[in-house]
Amino acid sequence: MPKTALAPALSKPAITRIQVPITGLDVDTPGRRDYFVSFEHPTLWGCYLVPVTVFVGPEAAPGKGLVAIGSTHGNECEGPVGIKRLLQDIDARDVRGRIIMIPTLNVAAFAAGTRDTPDDGANLNRVFPGDATGTITERFADFIQTRIFPHVHVVLDLHSATNAFDFALVSSFHYVADKAQQKQMEETARGFGTRFVMVYQNDTPGLLTSTAERLGKITIGTELGWGCTVCPEGVSMGMQGVLTAAIQHGQMRGQLPTNHHYARDEQILIDNSDHSCYVHASRGGLYEPRVEVGALVETGELVGVLHDFDAIDAPGERILAPHRGYVLCQVKARVMRGQVLSVVSVPKPWMP
Ligand SMILES: [Zn+2]
Repeated sequence: MPKTALAPALSKPAITRIQVPITGLDVDTPGRRDYFVSFEHPTLWGCYLVPVTVFVGPEAAPGKGLVAIGSTHGNECEGPVGIKRLLQDIDARDVRGRIIMIPTLNVAAFAAGTRDTPDDGANLNRVFPGDATGTITERFADFIQTRIFPHVHVVLDLHSATNAFDFALVSSFHYVADKAQQKQMEETARGFGTRFVMVYQNDTPGLLTSTAERLGKITIGTELGWGCTVCPEGVSMGMQGVLTAAIQHGQMRGQLPTNHHYARDEQILIDNSDHSCYVHASRGGLYEPRVEVGALVETGELVGVLHDFDAIDAPGERILAPHRGYVLCQVKARVMRGQVLSVVSVPKPWMP
């Protein structure tokens, strides 16, 4: 069992929530409020209820605050568990500014245990900035865009890798034009205590994090586990990262939480923003990893073998590292032609 931060708060009383429409969310009045924000169900008489907790302290300033979001994808578990636990752990008296906690944003996908929303087949992390009159997934995105983003300057979107994709635990951000913003993102990402802080490609349209970054917000994503399971180390890193960011950015008073994970001098900035880092399958088959995730490999080193069962008597295709770097992830499953098998990330210096 990996070391984890913070004993679970199992003895606290249950939280009582009030149900409001998206227009009923109060993010300004001092105090703690626990909401179910209602979104009309696409077909049933009824609503999807998204849990949203708002803490407002005495020094809350317009446009300043922190939001932590879990279950943008419904089958990623560490963010929801970590944020759920923080709802018990955070004492409203310690909140100076504004903290908004959304443990399960895409409640429709979360209930189904799926990455995408069953109702419309959409991926919430591809539809930002959303549409107030669109499908349920577009309405979830619009809620974040129009009701949450205007009140926060720090955005933490806690993801995990999906399905059979063994993935190093990382915090992440994109390169942005504003170098002061980028430096703040790098520092905030390090607060999660992950061994790797990842900078990745920014060509995917409709991402929550890219949208927040373009609005100038200090925006962090994560991959805190994989395989639709609950990784205790990832839960702990998520909780540590949220609390550290809340204190670092003036939204909570108190000492920074103890780093239970990788020390600063053990952390490594890795860059897979270039497409050459992504190794794609040339054919369908079963991929057999030959090195562990997190390993440092040299150019041309064997990272895995792709077995094509339509050519069952042929040797497997040797999959080689495209360059020197750290193996960020490895598929452990059946793949289709064109699917990413592995990513080899390039180590980079921290910003000065
Ligand atoms: Zn995700």
